[in-house]
Amino acid sequence: MLWEGFYELNAPFHGISVSLGIGDLAPWGSFDAHHFCIAAEQSVVLFSSEGSASALPAGALADPTLGMERGEQYRNPTEVQMSQLVLPCHTNHRGELSIGQLLKWIDTTACLSGKQSCAMDLAIHYVGQVVNIKAKVNRAFNSSMEVGIQVSYEDLCSGKQWNVCKAYATFVAQGKATGKMKLKPLTPQTEEEKMEYSIAAERRRMRLAHTDTLKDLLTHSTMPTERENGDCNNVVPAEKTRVESVELVLPPHANHQGNTFGGQIMAWMENVATIAASRLCHAHPTLKTIEMFHFRGPSQVGDRLLLKAIVNNSFKNSMEVGVCVEAYRQEMEVSRRHINSAFMTFVVLDQEGQPSAIPMVKPEVGDGERRYREASARKKIRLDRKYIISCEQTKVPLSVPWDQSNKVYLSYNNVSALKTLVAKTNWVLAAEIDKVRMYTLEEDKYLSFRIEMTLCIDATQAFFLLSDLRQRHEWDRHYASAELVQQVDEDDTIYHVVSQTVSQENKPQDFVILASRRKPCDEGDPYVVAFRSVMLPTCPPNPEYTRQETMCSGFCIWQETAELTKVSYYNQAAPGYLAYVTTNIAGLSSDFYVTFKACERFLQKNKDEITVGLQNL
Ligand code: ADP
Repeated sequence: MLWEGFYELNAPFHGISVSLGIGDLAPWGSFDAHHFCIAAEQSVVLFSSEGSASALPAGALADPTLGMERGEQYRNPTEVQMSQLVLPCHTNHRGELSIGQLLKWIDTTACLSGKQSCAMDLAIHYVGQVVNIKAKVNRAFNSSMEVGIQVSYEDLCSGKQWNVCKAYATFVAQGKATGKMKLKPLTPQTEEEKMEYSIAAERRRMRLAHTDTLKDLLTHSTMPTERENGDCNNVVPAEKTRVESVELVLPPHANHQGNTFGGQIMAWMENVATIAASRLCHAHPTLKTIEMFHFRGPSQVGDRLLLKAIVNNSFKNSMEVGVCVEAYRQEMEVSRRHINSAFMTFVVLDQEGQPSAIPMVKPEVGDGERRYREASARKKIRLDRKYIISCEQTKVPLSVPWDQSNKVYLSYNNVSALKTLVAKTNWVLAAEIDKVRMYTLEEDKYLSFRIEMTLCIDATQAFFLLSDLRQRHEWDRHYASAELVQQVDEDDTIYHVVSQTVSQENKPQDFVILASRRKPCDEGDPYVVAFRSVMLPTCPPNPEYTRQETMCSGFCIWQETAELTKVSYYNQAAPGYLAYVTTNIAGLSSDFYVTFKACERFLQKNKDEITVGLQNL
């Protein structure tokens, strides 16, 4: 059985947020089926020798309260926790928790030994604090599975606890002989589990697009190979930062099957990267983010690991160090196996804890120059991700400019914001006319609404008809027109929408809207069409209109029976919608009913046409 996986950690912390580590899904090692588990024995991924995998022991999820003591709260049966006290032996030169140690603990909790890739933002933790790590399976896809890991810190003196980062690890199961195998699906129970389950699909999509995003950025941008207008006297040749170090894998570094712990390898990598970074800045650097631990193959007790690191690029206040690891056997091996690569960002903090200026580096010709440019591209991707994803959904500014390299994150944000709204459990039925229902959800700052009806139509037909905004004016009288301005890819489209509503300036309102549509990943999943505003340089505000923005809205479509489909429209109401919602709830208007009946007629009228269209695809 072959597994592969990688971590993604994503943590807003102390104002800095983390990047996601994204690795290629390449085979990396083989494990004894009966000993491989994500968390502890009682819960996780156990494989039968027939090659089918079950994400849980049989029946564990049939009744989530099964086996619970009286008074005990529901707990995800795949969840495992670890708590560790930070002792002097776990710290670095500054007396803070060493990141290598944290990686080893995360690795033990998620049992990812020998897996792939991790990225995280790093914060300062001192002796005496406790680290709590929780891991659970979020979703089993066909042959891959996402595990969520939450790291939090606890101050024993004050009793305060705070979350540090959230990580996602992905594993792909492969049967020994036939390659891919099928995992048993997992049913989410709580609101939080449902949300993680649903958004896992979007994270998977984003992960798979990473390599293309990087390639795209490198081909389409004109990046200088040297820092422009720099002070040439203060340029350090990259070779000066080069580090090479060797480690012998001993039994304490490996699991019971002799495979090296992934966390141990990561800790060794952090060590050489820190030395390379110190050689550039001649100070004690602090690791800020880790991107892409990329495990390509396993290593065992008796292997020697050759770790190589060099500064790839330096920016004003930070630098990227790349590390690669090769394994070999002293006695017999002729060639070395490349088993891992990672990219780490370091800063140098001054007395006040502020990042100080970093000297420039001059890359070596050839590979060095390529890595220099790739480091810049990774920095751009990391910033996009931090800006768009790590922010709380509702804090992402509406006017994010859309571009080729952040398109994946904007789509992620679009779809995941809607899915988060869909997973909420505290919706209240506010009005109902002839089976068209309007629900509301009151939260701190927002009043969201949802309108729902069940129709005699096929879900796929409804999905295609509702995802094309150009047709919306046919049933939604708030829409005057919509024009397609950018076809991002098959499932993402940007429209310029003109509304019927007139602004205070007596001009029609207009919007630039990204529509992201997603078909179900699994049986039981809904079809989703999400809308949010973006900024598009080719579609600037026009004096004819008043430019408006919309936060999160869209459709969720469930095929309920062979004939019946439930269509729900969601809207996280901007203040402009408030009157619409409240007059409908108060019974002063039946507008929601009129609009959705018109929507039903529109779907019925056009469904056959779309079927013909779909057949011709
Ligand atoms: P890439 O060259 O595409 O970055 P690799 O996996 O070959 O990917 O290397 C990962 C990183 O490890 C490189 O970016 C570089 O920083 C570092 N590295 C690779 N080879 C060496 C080497 N011979 N000496 C020092 N550092 C190296």
